[in-house]
Amino acid sequence: MKFSFNGLKRPILVAGPCAAESASQLLRTAEALKRSGKVSLFRCGSWKVRSKPEGFEGIGEASFPVLQRIEKEMALPVSVEVASPAQVETLLRYGISCCWIGARTTVNPHQVAEIAEAARDSGLSVLVKNPVVADLKLWEGAFERLLKAGITDLAAVHRGFAVADASPYRNRPFWHLAIEWKRRHPEWPLICDPSHIAGCRPLIPEVAQKALNLNYDGLMLEVHPEPDAALSDAAQQLTPQQFEKLLSGLRVPVVPTADGRLSSYRAVLDEIDSELLSLLSRRMEVSRQIARVKMEEGLPLLQMERWREVLSSAVRQAGMLGLEPSFVEEWMQLVHSASLEVQEKVLGNQDSLTAGEQKSR
Ligand code: PEP
Ligand code: MN
Repeated sequence: MKFSFNGLKRPILVAGPCAAESASQLLRTAEALKRSGKVSLFRCGSWKVRSKPEGFEGIGEASFPVLQRIEKEMALPVSVEVASPAQVETLLRYGISCCWIGARTTVNPHQVAEIAEAARDSGLSVLVKNPVVADLKLWEGAFERLLKAGITDLAAVHRGFAVADASPYRNRPFWHLAIEWKRRHPEWPLICDPSHIAGCRPLIPEVAQKALNLNYDGLMLEVHPEPDAALSDAAQQLTPQQFEKLLSGLRVPVVPTADGRLSSYRAVLDEIDSELLSLLSRRMEVSRQIARVKMEEGLPLLQMERWREVLSSAVRQAGMLGLEPSFVEEWMQLVHSASLEVQEKVLGNQDSLTAGEQKSR
């Protein structure tokens, strides 16, 4: 069954078990998902990439005759995780036309290159999960390697990033990175994997809703007939009923259009942003002047007492203005380090002219 991301109804829903455990588990899950009428692609880890060797690794090639039945008898396209050229070859031999590259594989450019080579010009559709580390270049590199091998039907899956303490999540979402990814690559559908970000059922709805609010193109969710007995990722898999309940509780935003009501607010925002920028530029100018005084009087650049005062007064004011104090704190820290950098340049005598003086030259 030839699959393609083109023209799929939004949000694209990819669902299925973490790992292929048995024929009956796969068939029960696929039947329930097919009945929901909402799923575009059935996911299944035939060969699970596990962190520890004792983890359940899936039933492997034995799952393929069942996956073929799911495609043919239920008209439900299937996607399988691949981590090696041999796995790509198996997939192609069984006529499965979609796969995904997991986070532990995207992180390794050699492995991705070998997978791309095995898939060369096969017409395979590929979902590429973000690498486990928060490095967009590695993620982009995987897409480029696939494109060079003639694999063009691609989509990105945001599954969060491994950090020492991701709590309350299993993997940190770093939403700002996903937004930056979407800004750079509007050409590829972006799908969120709330199961692997959340790592537990109770957090899945808020992660899924956040992704839809950010206008993602779809969701990938792990579904198992009996999650508590699942051989991998038991805490995060949903029953088919929980999956349907989740979907019915989500608010799917409409496709944005050029809207007169929004554009008048946006004009005001643009004006405010431009005012903020000129204020910042004035602030830096004053910083330069202060640096000259500090230099003349032999004072240190950083005076901790003063910085403590500036920061605590900003945080206090933030509270009174209804702003999130932690946001204002972070923002002030950014402004302060940029200001110190400007002052260091003055001290290093590399930047002793004011912007005004530079302009008048
Ligand atoms: C999975 O989707 O089951 C999986 C292993 O995901 P990830 O590569 O995101 O860890
Ligand atoms: Mn999983």
